[in-house]
Amino acid sequence: MKKLENYIQGKWVAGEGAGQTLYNAVTGAPLAQASTQGIDMAAAIHYARTVGNPALRKMTFHQRGNMLKALALHLRTNLDGFYSISYQTGATKADSWVDIEGGIGNLFANASLRRRFPDQPFCVDGESHNLSKGNTFMGTHILVPKEGVAIHINAFNFPVWGMLEKIAVNLLAGMPAIVKSATVTSYLTEAVVREIIASRMLPEGSLQLLCGSAGDLLDHVNYQDVVTFTGSAATGLMLRSHPKILKENVPFNLEADSLNCIVLGEDVNPGMPEWDLFIKEIRKEMTLKAGQRCTGVRRIFAPADKLEDLARFLSTALSQTLIGNPLHEKVRMGSLAGQAQREEVRHQTEILLRDCKLIYGSLQEVEVVDADAKKGAFLSPMLLLNETPWETKSVHEVEAFGPVSTLMPYQGMEEAIALSKLGKGSLCSTIVTADPNTARSYVLGAATHHGRILVLNSECAKESTGHGSPLPLLVHGGPGRAGGGEEMGGLRGVKHYLQRTALQGSPTLLTEITQVYQPHAKGKDPGTHPFKKYFEELQIGNQLLTEERQITSEDITAFADLSGDHFYAHLVDTDFNGTMFEQQVAHGYFVMSLAAGLFVDSYEKNPVLLNYGIDELRFTKPVYPGASVHIRFTCKEKLPSDPRIVENPEDKKRGDDIPKGIVKWYVEMLDNTDEPIIGVATILTMVAKKNQH
Ligand code: NAP
Repeated sequence: MKKLENYIQGKWVAGEGAGQTLYNAVTGAPLAQASTQGIDMAAAIHYARTVGNPALRKMTFHQRGNMLKALALHLRTNLDGFYSISYQTGATKADSWVDIEGGIGNLFANASLRRRFPDQPFCVDGESHNLSKGNTFMGTHILVPKEGVAIHINAFNFPVWGMLEKIAVNLLAGMPAIVKSATVTSYLTEAVVREIIASRMLPEGSLQLLCGSAGDLLDHVNYQDVVTFTGSAATGLMLRSHPKILKENVPFNLEADSLNCIVLGEDVNPGMPEWDLFIKEIRKEMTLKAGQRCTGVRRIFAPADKLEDLARFLSTALSQTLIGNPLHEKVRMGSLAGQAQREEVRHQTEILLRDCKLIYGSLQEVEVVDADAKKGAFLSPMLLLNETPWETKSVHEVEAFGPVSTLMPYQGMEEAIALSKLGKGSLCSTIVTADPNTARSYVLGAATHHGRILVLNSECAKESTGHGSPLPLLVHGGPGRAGGGEEMGGLRGVKHYLQRTALQGSPTLLTEITQVYQPHAKGKDPGTHPFKKYFEELQIGNQLLTEERQITSEDITAFADLSGDHFYAHLVDTDFNGTMFEQQVAHGYFVMSLAAGLFVDSYEKNPVLLNYGIDELRFTKPVYPGASVHIRFTCKEKLPSDPRIVENPEDKKRGDDIPKGIVKWYVEMLDNTDEPIIGVATILTMVAKKNQH
């Protein structure tokens, strides 16, 4: 029988001994053997720290992001291969799409996130703070990649997504990974890792794979590593309490099972689109991936007087789902991942049935298409009813990790909120309602106990990604029982792999270190207009101090006429008693326009291609006729691209696009008083590169 291999220290190696036999979940036929016995876990960690980590940490965020994008595009060329293996896990095409293409989607999403970071291996985090009266001492924060390895211990249900959603983030951050896939479905993870390694798109040492037991892996972690765990709360608790994790203060992100719930608003009745949405969402949650989703709806709360109707509608919907061989085109629900998983779900459901009635489905019997219900790990969807949710603990504690959900009554929104909290912390919850007040009450009342809340109504239904789908740009994780962790969530997820360090010092030195101009730092090269410099030639801190221009009452009146902004404060004959102003005041936009007139080098063509916006524009005090204004104009930050700019793809095709970068300029508008700042802004320009190739 085929022996799965582990990718360790740059080589594919089989573990010693027979290992664990893995089976085709649909036919029950043995597929492969997996073992990690004999693998030197300490050496694998050392390899990641000394080979993968240095290679990744010296790359910039943009280089790492581009690497992820290239990898995503490459993996898409082998989709058929991945799908054909995925069917063997019991997954239908739709299930596999979530796992495989959803996973690749995470690579794309993180690749795009690069644009939110500088073209540096590290980044500044948050605002800077002036810490002194004389403006010579300040503070800010930087984030640098940790020097260790990210160890991901994953659950069996999403063998591709589970790996890619995590490594996308640590790779963007600049850390290597060791993935320990759940053994039972590791043959699919192995196939994807083979493709990744063969592509040679990641620096060597960036990714290692274990298909089988973790052995003594965690005995060798240290404080520069990060461990993430996805799986059951019981295993999670055991691993989180590992002495090495505790002693070395290793960041440990726990994503555990949770008793997620969906709530039907009291306003929703049969015949309303929201009623149908509720039924559809529950059927999807129970049958997609045969209910093996950490986010799956386990508890259904509905107004007591609607329980009977709901039981009928849900049973009908479930009966319309064809179960069987996932390769059959009409089949909508496949099998569980294996016999052991089926037995476990049966066992947990039996516990639930001590307090609940089974109103749809069967523990033992299931009708399947084009498959053998006994040999394959098939299970019927089971809808349970519990009419006393306040008196029953099991429905809020026991997770049957399969197509099992329990319907329960509530009386009034306060009770629905309180019942949702009995799960003691979940990954996600959904409220289905057409009423804004119901939506608001539920969200504000229940948010403390759920990591994500979907507010579902007919307006968003068509484009909604659904209750069960964690999204790369939103936080995934939940409080309490759900593990108390947070992952993904766009920039937030990346920061999990970066060390945040507070930096204190002079603005000039902190500008040099961070490569972001810090207010009050010394300017550079005042002799040359910075607009004369190409992107490569510009240095952070290049500065121009302009001439002065006096503002007159005629200027303000003329600007009011030109712009049409005749707000009373800009009119010369306004009675200013009782207003915030002493006399006619200049428009802030006039001051900003006048600033451009002073800092723009207007007489020759220069490398600045265009000005495309202003960030953080503030007018800090009123400017009256007679004020003499000048501008300090400083190169603040250089970026390769801006996510908000949509370039013409036709230009790219024709090769007409000009090589360029984005330059942010810090604009200080000053007068001649003791407190000279009348306004500040950051303006954005595109600047041509000298090297046009
Ligand atoms: P599990 O039994 O807890 O296993 C999870 C992972 O931990 C597997 O890779 C497993 O490896 C590994 N593991 C088990 N014992 C270990 C040990 N002593 N040392 C190191 N690693 C160890 O969970 P599962 O059965 O795979 O997954 C189902 C559960 O995961 C469900 O409860 C589900 O709710 C939860 N889940 C949560 C999320 C989430 O994001 N919150 C996502 C998916 C699933 P082996 O496979 O080799 O045993």
